[in-house]
Amino acid sequence: MNFRAKLLGLICAALPVLVVNAQQSVDALVESNIANLVDTYKTLHAAPELSHREEKTSAFVAKELRSLGYTVTERVGKFEQPEWNGYGVVAVMKNGAGPTVLVRADMDALPVEEKTGLSYASKVRTKNDAGQEVGVMHACGHDIHVTTLLGTAKLLVELKDRWHGTLVLLGQPAEETIDGARALLRDGLYARFPKPDLAIALHDNAELEAGKVGIVPGFALASSTNIDIKIRGIGGHGSKPDATKDPIVLAAQVILGLQTIVSRENSPLDPAVVTVGSIHGGTRYNIIPDEVNLQLTVRAYKEEVRKRVLASIERITTGIAMAAGVPNDRAPIVKVSETEVTAATYNDPALTERLAAAFEKGLGADNVVKMAPIMGSEDFGYLGLDRTIPTAMFWLGAVDPAKVKQSKETGTTLPSLHSALFAPLPEPTLRTGVKAMTLAVLELMKK
Ligand SMILES: [Zn+2]
Ligand SMILES: [Zn+2]
Repeated sequence: MNFRAKLLGLICAALPVLVVNAQQSVDALVESNIANLVDTYKTLHAAPELSHREEKTSAFVAKELRSLGYTVTERVGKFEQPEWNGYGVVAVMKNGAGPTVLVRADMDALPVEEKTGLSYASKVRTKNDAGQEVGVMHACGHDIHVTTLLGTAKLLVELKDRWHGTLVLLGQPAEETIDGARALLRDGLYARFPKPDLAIALHDNAELEAGKVGIVPGFALASSTNIDIKIRGIGGHGSKPDATKDPIVLAAQVILGLQTIVSRENSPLDPAVVTVGSIHGGTRYNIIPDEVNLQLTVRAYKEEVRKRVLASIERITTGIAMAAGVPNDRAPIVKVSETEVTAATYNDPALTERLAAAFEKGLGADNVVKMAPIMGSEDFGYLGLDRTIPTAMFWLGAVDPAKVKQSKETGTTLPSLHSALFAPLPEPTLRTGVKAMTLAVLELMKK
């Protein structure tokens, strides 16, 4: 064996040790921070704030990130409603030349009264926008996301010699109302702050075991579009239907007619959902009303599918009214919401593959699960600007593994996201979340 071969042999022998040591340092750093992270999580969990009102949460996030050395800007975000404040937090750390990577965590909670019975359960009550008193709960686990972001922020400062480029950490407001990401962009997120080459996020998962992460290449979450339909008829006495155009009967026909969009018009290979979630009309047994109001949500992955479904809803609704002889000036009004709408979440396959490989190396292949897409929605996709910036969101397992096992054995369902009973298992969830997000950034910004 010549000298060079010998040297190569030594380097090769040492390499796995180096990799293991690098891994160990992330593990050791997570361990030395985990007690604090669990405390932070419990504090956030007990003090949830509704969308558009994340004042204290965002101030806390800003203070923590500033103390770690990030350049922090608060109150980023402009909503269409001028009375709402944008509570976005943007924290930037420049670390030499290299890629710009954005890590997003959403901060808002839901109008849900917590029923977990945990010692750190939320007892917060507030008035919603309609003036009704509601309980407030982090029922979607955004407190896990915020804590993970703070833990990752700290680790990446401690590991600053292992990455290069510009890191942008984003505390996003108003995800649940799906207008937060657009509010940030409207307020110049990518003009006032470094525009990312890549953007990543995680979301906790109410079915996956704590300790695991889930990967979904391609479409992961659907677009969501809310629609109001006003079916107008000609009211009159319930005993004399021949003198009316009954909007109740029309509404019933419309609802059944809409069922054919997905079953008969749409390719079975292109998932779509049309759900009528609300129907209101009439006041008394014997009065045929003038109108009936429907509220619908439409879900799809592909934009062309979404557009076709919306056009079909309009066509079927107006067609049924026309067939019933409703005069043109009483034709149905189909209104597609311009604010209650969000794009599909598309996980860039190459970026997702890079993350999956880093996770498999750092968490073990058994802890990285390929998951199916869902028809739920998120507004993270907007940060990819129509896929011009590769984005990826991964799932973070949050459930006690014993409960997942029991649920599989007995067939009982676990509390879902948005449930008053949703209770992530803090320590292993945060440990894996911080580790995974740190490994992800180290992979994307490695030297
Ligand atoms: Zn949610
Ligand atoms: Zn959520």
